[in-house]
Amino acid sequence: MDVVVLDDVAFDVEEGALMGLVRLRPQGVRADEFRAVLDEARKVARPKAACGIAEVGHRGRGRVDIGGVSFTSRLLEENLRDANAAFPYIATCGAELEEWAAGQQGALRQFWAENIMLVALGCAVGYLEGYLKGILGVEGLSSMNPGALDDWPIEQQATLFGLLGDAARSVGCRLAPGMVMRPLKSVSGIYFVSHGGFTNCSLCPRRSCASRRAAFDAALYARYRGG
Ligand code: SF4
Repeated sequence: MDVVVLDDVAFDVEEGALMGLVRLRPQGVRADEFRAVLDEARKVARPKAACGIAEVGHRGRGRVDIGGVSFTSRLLEENLRDANAAFPYIATCGAELEEWAAGQQGALRQFWAENIMLVALGCAVGYLEGYLKGILGVEGLSSMNPGALDDWPIEQQATLFGLLGDAARSVGCRLAPGMVMRPLKSVSGIYFVSHGGFTNCSLCPRRSCASRRAAFDAALYARYRGG
């Protein structure tokens, strides 16, 4: 599998938007303290991403081969039904920022650091998506992630890391016990071209989720649950 490592991702964050995220007013009493913390973070942040360009091989009975590795997921199989290639990926806020965040003292600074790491991860994901859309010449790109839905169990994270191999290591990511990624603010999955668009959220029945990106589709959910 050919692998691309993107280790020059800019930590491109707008101060006002980030202050809104952590519920600070620009003229508030903690605003200058936050700006100083953000300035520190800007100096150390190195968000990164890596992805593979993998051939989609045999598929059937809820399994699909990607880059010669077999994955178990009916949804993934269905989403890749007409695909010749898929793009296993990993994106991360970067170990540098996680190490910096661990040194922040107090609950408030920890909260700020958590959000700064999330934004850094968003930079890595956005950069990777833009890169893939550019080389593929498409606008419609969707992804699935192990553990996001019952259909693709979290244990498949190990299989995905096996496929990503050196690519994961090259961006400083590893899989810790319990299928936990380190740095914690990392995401892994498989991108695929999808003109209709696919979002995990449309099949996720979780009632309360601040990160929901699409409404729950009960009919689609019943279709997949019912076989
Ligand atoms: S609704 Fe929330 S928990 Fe469910 S897939 Fe979307 S982001 Fe994940």
